[in-house]
Amino acid sequence: KESSYDVVVIGAGGAGFSAAIEAKTAGANVVLLEKMPAVGGNSLISGAEMNVAKNWVQPKLGINDDSPELHAQDTYKGGDQKGDMKVINVMTHQALDAAKWCRDFLGVRFEDDNLFFFGGHSRKRALIPVGHTGTEFITKFQAKADELGIPVITNMKAEELIKDKDGRVVGVKATMDGAEYTFNARGGVVLATGGFGANPEMVKKYNPSIDERFKTTDAPGTTGEALYMAERAGAELVNMGYIQTYPICDPISGVIELIADSRFDGAIMINQEGKRFVEELDRRDVLSHAILEQTGGYCWVLWNDKIGAISNTVGTHTTEYEAFTKQGIMATCDDLKCIADFTKIPYESLKGTVDRVSSMAGKGNDKDFNHRSGLVDMSQGKYYVIKAVPSTHHTMGGVRINEKAEALTAEGKVIPGLWAAGEVTGVTHGTNRLGGNAYTDIIVFGRIAGKAAAEAAK
Ligand code: ADP
Repeated sequence: KESSYDVVVIGAGGAGFSAAIEAKTAGANVVLLEKMPAVGGNSLISGAEMNVAKNWVQPKLGINDDSPELHAQDTYKGGDQKGDMKVINVMTHQALDAAKWCRDFLGVRFEDDNLFFFGGHSRKRALIPVGHTGTEFITKFQAKADELGIPVITNMKAEELIKDKDGRVVGVKATMDGAEYTFNARGGVVLATGGFGANPEMVKKYNPSIDERFKTTDAPGTTGEALYMAERAGAELVNMGYIQTYPICDPISGVIELIADSRFDGAIMINQEGKRFVEELDRRDVLSHAILEQTGGYCWVLWNDKIGAISNTVGTHTTEYEAFTKQGIMATCDDLKCIADFTKIPYESLKGTVDRVSSMAGKGNDKDFNHRSGLVDMSQGKYYVIKAVPSTHHTMGGVRINEKAEALTAEGKVIPGLWAAGEVTGVTHGTNRLGGNAYTDIIVFGRIAGKAAAEAAK
């Protein structure tokens, strides 16, 4: 079956929705294709915090010295100078406009008096959507697409980009239940298909150190075949080996254990022998590999009420608490004897570690691993313990784009008719994506790509 549009957008996550809505707003006839039965991708399951320098919440918290330049520098540095500063600057300079578009045009609700402070940022700058997940964004995206009459076709998998004799991308070949469909695109195609963190073979191919031992935090559609599709159309894939793992995840499903964010308040990580083995606030990659070197390739995260009182992760993540407890990977105990029984860690060793941690409580006192914000006195219960493994989380590499979200060849030439935005692209985050930068990236470049493709159809 064949149909014709001005703009075809592939992938209904945050980047794809942004592109489709902007293209439609610019007057284009647009279709959004999604291979999974439901929309949302990784954007839906994300915490969805969005970094925006000079946002409207910052002054309320007394933060008046942030700037897009500073945000760009943090991003570049956080990615070990492997990102493209021209592209990064577009992201940080258009972040505020993108956030206002989400708030005022889409109706996304943000917390009004609170921001998130991720590692690697020199200012607290991440806006938090109500509910702290991508659900707030994706429901508003879907509602706007419905209102504007944008067809969103699920279970439709893009297989191949179609080029005309001059090399311009003019459409997409797709399949649904084995049947073939052709979507012609007069203006062009926007690739917004996300990353490949849920494709273990592909992850291992580009980064052999991230092997079978890793699970994934990602949505099941995050399998990256579309990157090969882009490559076949001439696009260059860059930074593909830079893959971010998240250290503290559920050993069964692979999802992030938000409840173990008590780590940021002093929870310790111990191995099956009951010993600490790493500074708990080290980089995600360092922690991930350290955990895999321990017996069984997992660790235990242990904290007490004194630590729990700081940000109350147990009280906040009640669904997780119940699920992990029921699953048998988490326990709540009045004393360490009970923790030792549950984890099967030798009691004497566990007690020795906890006594030592308590004796070194306070900033600057950790002689073993130099805990940067200081260990906490753990001599009194209650105690909480959870088993954790590292998972693949975000793939930084992907299609090389320029400041206009145009896909580029290895020679640096623009591929006419092809734009790319979001996790499928590979030049914003360098070696390492800072927390809160994914949403900024997908919305800023999704909008740019959608507008440009609509323009090209005129
Ligand atoms: P981003 O954050 O960059 O928007 P997401 O992971 O949120 O990325 O969204 C990407 C979406 O693209 C997912 O919903 C995924 O299922 C979809 N997708 C991936 N490959 C294809 C494909 N070949 N055809 C159609 N949709 C795809």
